[in-house]
Amino acid sequence: MSTQQSLADLAAALAAGTIEIVDLTAPLGPDTPVLHLPPDFARNTPKVAIHRISAYDQDGPWWAWNWLELGEHTGTHFDAPSHWVSGKDLPDNTIDTIPVRHFVAPAIVIDRSKEVAADPDFLLTADDIRNWEAEHGPIPRGVWVLLRSDWYPRNTSTEAFLNTDADGPHTPGPSVDAVRYLVERGALGFGNECVGTDAGNAVTFDPPFPAHNLLLGAGAYGLASLVNLDRLPATGALLVVAPLKIVGGTGSPVRAIALVPRG
Ligand code: MN
Repeated sequence: MSTQQSLADLAAALAAGTIEIVDLTAPLGPDTPVLHLPPDFARNTPKVAIHRISAYDQDGPWWAWNWLELGEHTGTHFDAPSHWVSGKDLPDNTIDTIPVRHFVAPAIVIDRSKEVAADPDFLLTADDIRNWEAEHGPIPRGVWVLLRSDWYPRNTSTEAFLNTDADGPHTPGPSVDAVRYLVERGALGFGNECVGTDAGNAVTFDPPFPAHNLLLGAGAYGLASLVNLDRLPATGALLVVAPLKIVGGTGSPVRAIALVPRG
């Protein structure tokens, strides 16, 4: 089959609805939960603000438009390698220099929703990934690896989403050995349903924040605050995640969508 035919077949399947598009993006607005750093790190990312410029009124009789105030790492978003000190000297490490071909890539989904329901501090291990591979085959290089936790319905409430108590936040993520294994496998990046790619208590790991430290340090990427991962198959989804081309940006909100075979 020619490549031209492949693309035409894809367009026809989309038109026919035999391939469906799943939105992996949470709404971005004033209610979007944002990270609260520990008190030692005083500067936090702000809540999203949508400022009205005009709305068919004396400031603009025929048009409505807004201006936005938001952090790069807000809502459903993409982490570029330059976000972490381990990735600061890599080539093409800012959001505007990442090769665009990386914005369209297959995804595999590892479902640990039952384990997370029983333990919000659940950590995905390298053995979990190897067990997934025993069932579904080796993870190919250059794919997104997504942790399905069914955490995302909580992101309508900052309190439930961050799940913080006196010991800090309790949210699932990857262990250090899981992240090392993903780097070894050549993953394009790791995606999580929580406020960031790392687990809530990842500040205590060695190294701290492994999904940031090790993956971004290897030139891979992160996706945070994904939704609807329960609608994706374990294999076979194609992700389109398009960050804004922020000059020198360390990350960006994205509209993340997945192409999925129906049925
Ligand atoms: Mn981030």
